[in-house]
Amino acid sequence: MIVLVANEAATGETRVSATPETVKRMISSGLEVRIESGAGNAAFLDDTEYTDVGATVESASIAGRQAADVLLKVGPLGELAELGRSEIELLKEGAVVIGFLDPFLRPDDVRALAAGSITALPMEFIPRVTRAQSMDALSSQASIAGYRAVLLAAHRLPRYFPLLMTAAGTIRPAKVVVMGAGVAGLQAVATARRLGALVEVSDIRPAVKEQVESLGGRFIDLPEMETGDGTGGYAKEMGEEFLRRQREILTEHVAAANVVITTAAVPGKPAPRLLSADMVHRMKPGSVIVDLAAERGGNCELTRADEEVIENGVTILGPTNVAASMSRDASALYARNVLELLKELVDDEGALQVDLENDVVGPTLVTHGGKVVHQQVAAQLEEATD
Ligand code: NAD
Repeated sequence: MIVLVANEAATGETRVSATPETVKRMISSGLEVRIESGAGNAAFLDDTEYTDVGATVESASIAGRQAADVLLKVGPLGELAELGRSEIELLKEGAVVIGFLDPFLRPDDVRALAAGSITALPMEFIPRVTRAQSMDALSSQASIAGYRAVLLAAHRLPRYFPLLMTAAGTIRPAKVVVMGAGVAGLQAVATARRLGALVEVSDIRPAVKEQVESLGGRFIDLPEMETGDGTGGYAKEMGEEFLRRQREILTEHVAAANVVITTAAVPGKPAPRLLSADMVHRMKPGSVIVDLAAERGGNCELTRADEEVIENGVTILGPTNVAASMSRDASALYARNVLELLKELVDDEGALQVDLENDVVGPTLVTHGGKVVHQQVAAQLEEATD
């Protein structure tokens, strides 16, 4: 069985889907691993590090793509510049592709994958259950984003984060508000606390309060409000009236903050609007907002994805694909997530086996055997054709 580690088609993607460490483990389980030359370069992994552990390095080619039984990717399938062809077209029938394939936003890809009888496993569909934690790439990458967001803010803030008592006087600790305490938000809380800031947190799932407090953050209660618990540990979409009241409560906390980091999200929905322009106008000049929801429209009304906005002296950053800014560790963790999923797809003899009954593989599959097998994606495609 041939596993091909792909060069990434998207500009700005610095991560790679396999590292020498994971390749070594694939080879010891009987897989043949080929790397497209330069795939690891942006993550500071040289071709020779892969050959040293027994992989073959080859230039990206049509023949190479067509020979692959399994294609490992980070980002979605796209146009491969050096080959001038779509990556999907080049996959052979029955091949497996693993990566952040973004199926909800790329319906044409899903149709093409089904038409080509490709078995596609989007990493974002790995179920958030205990058994699949080692494969949970959403978590490994979100955690990096939360950490990086705090460093970005600290870098741009014209103040210290920690309390400092110096001969020249006392510096008050920075005040940080984190909105959304999922994986990225909790890592942001932990990082800001380590830097010595005072941290307040808003979320709508009550279960989060204890986690925030255990990290030394203060939870902002939203009194008399319905719970935001949805299914599978995620939040549900709240009505406009709820969000209006939430913004009202958050206004004074935001006005007193030096840094606001927003990570609030509801799966499959646009990011909830938690910071209005009016709230930004009440912030002190020199304050910094880092909006990690920029990709999904932003938690702040003034955010522009991948741009820097300065409003009334407040800097608003809306970085996307933040994990790619830490390519080495992002790749190390992502590659381990992919390896663990791959193990679920290989039998003891090193042959491919796609078991639809497998409790991780089953829910992750989007296309298999010429069909769209993921219920929500299939429903979305049907709606689009109606
Ligand atoms: P996410 O990216 O979907 O959302 C980020 C956060 O935004 C969530 O905490 C959500 O409650 C919050 N949010 C939504 N609307 C909001 C609003 N109006 N105001 C404030 N906050 C709002 O979440 P995620 O980081 O992918 O993880 C969500 C949860 O999934 C985790 O906290 C956990 O319970 C669960 N999870 C479980 C596992 C596992 O068991 N293996 C792994 C990872 C995550």
